[in-house]
Amino acid sequence: MTDRSDWRPATRLVRGGLNRSQFRETSEALFLNSGFVYDDAAQAEAAFNGDVDVFIYSRYGNPTVATFEERLALLEGADACRATATGMAAVFAAMLCQVSAGDRVVAARELFGSCHYIVSKLLPRWGVEIEFVKGTDLAAWEKALSRPATVTFLESPSNPMLDLVDIAAVAELSHKAGARLMVDNVFATPMFQRPLALGADIVVYSATKHIDGQGRCLGGAVLGDRKFIDDVFQPFYRNTGPSMSPFNAWVMVKSLETLELRVERHTRNAARIAEWLEARPDVLMVRYPGLESHPQHALAKRQMSGFGSLVTLELPGGKAAAFRFLDALQLIDISNNLGDAKSLVCHPATTTHSRLTDAERADIGVTPGVVRLSIGLEDPEDLIEDIDRALLAAAG
Ligand SMILES: *Cc1c(COP(=O)(O)O)cnc(C)c1O
Repeated sequence: MTDRSDWRPATRLVRGGLNRSQFRETSEALFLNSGFVYDDAAQAEAAFNGDVDVFIYSRYGNPTVATFEERLALLEGADACRATATGMAAVFAAMLCQVSAGDRVVAARELFGSCHYIVSKLLPRWGVEIEFVKGTDLAAWEKALSRPATVTFLESPSNPMLDLVDIAAVAELSHKAGARLMVDNVFATPMFQRPLALGADIVVYSATKHIDGQGRCLGGAVLGDRKFIDDVFQPFYRNTGPSMSPFNAWVMVKSLETLELRVERHTRNAARIAEWLEARPDVLMVRYPGLESHPQHALAKRQMSGFGSLVTLELPGGKAAAFRFLDALQLIDISNNLGDAKSLVCHPATTTHSRLTDAERADIGVTPGVVRLSIGLEDPEDLIEDIDRALLAAAG
């Protein structure tokens, strides 16, 4: 069993990237150090020439960070992974290492707020042409990609309406247009969706979410083939410094060991709550990719092996009802974070999506009555009791 690619996911999560020191420690060591020393001047020269594979400086690479990167790459089925300080550092570096003035980027409009900012506000400042399309509309992708592009970018399921994009179809259109497809896979997690196997070229994560999953550390990751990571991404990463702290990498390494267990439990709880909510007459709409009522349930079954921890609902009564709902919850905390062991709730229209215009919000379905739940690891019956109480309060 020395060929790690033969390992099944649970084994990869516990054993991947393990590189014990001379002390033979059981658990992964934390190399909390910025620099490394050389045996002699010639070795330093060889290191900088790339002739020997040694650690040089933790901005470029670090043993604990490398363990996290190898473990995640093995799980994802990617050639290579680089860890970053945050999810946004991953998205920014993966995007900016590829584009030059005059290039063209096509993105789904349903993007995480800061990802939307990078595409809509920053890229045009640097002379990159951008176009947003409705992610669920394949004809719109086809039209936008009838002209050459450099990068295409999407998130599926999207925040907060859990819309899906057909990754395989967009990958094919992207390649015909000469673009690399980059997928933000945070909501699906590496357990439930494999964008690279569906034809995508790059996968990005906020490791802050389910990968840490316990509200401690910020982190991110970029995964892709060896050529992209080594030739395109690494020079940008090494010289601009979005590196992950070794301490955070160590936390993430230990978190990966339980990722499968946690994400399965999150999903079981979320499915139970989505079904319970759907039977409630006082809820206008429930969105969960695992429900048959989800407009893209067939696509969800085709491209995902599990449906995740986010459940979005719409209450009658707009913002006032949504606020009464949030304020009446006693167990579930109000927070814009997600993928945490603790169940969290947020009101997208006044927080994560507050900078959009009313028309933009209406366009993507984020009405004032929309509430997003990130279902945690508590007993689902306790969560249901809490939500039941809040629904009564929301009705006023
Ligand atoms: C949180 C999040 C990000 C940004 O990650 P940070 O770790 O907060 O920088 C990007 N995309 C999605 C979908 C997210 O949920």
